[in-house]
Amino acid sequence: MEKIEHIGIAVTDLEAANERYAKLLGKPHYKIEEVPTEGVRTSFFMTGDSKIELLEATDSTGPIAKFLNRNGEGMHHIAFAVDDIKKELIRLKAEGFTLINEKPKKGADNKLVAFLHPKSSNGVLIELCQEIIK
Ligand code: ZN
Repeated sequence: MEKIEHIGIAVTDLEAANERYAKLLGKPHYKIEEVPTEGVRTSFFMTGDSKIELLEATDSTGPIAKFLNRNGEGMHHIAFAVDDIKKELIRLKAEGFTLINEKPKKGADNKLVAFLHPKSSNGVLIELCQEIIK
């Protein structure tokens, strides 16, 4: 695992959350990106070497909508940058972690992503992400 790439926060109103986090961080978000396959609209802020990702549900049956229904707004996941996501998934599976995604998929922000189930990481949803080199 390399650095913490970003922390994901589930929000009910992306525009309002963008304004709030711009005040908190003292700078505006630098992009909004929709990931239709995940039923989510995301917004990103730089915080030093890491990012904050705000996540708003666009599909009432998607994972963010389900999370918001269950827990309300709040921290959703921690994402770690990795150099080789396939290798890391094999390593973590062998270490006994429960993979939500056996294979990486295309996520927001030009990344291949895969998630580990929170039950195998003390209640925290973990995302692995690898930059897609174009
Ligand atoms: Zn994320």
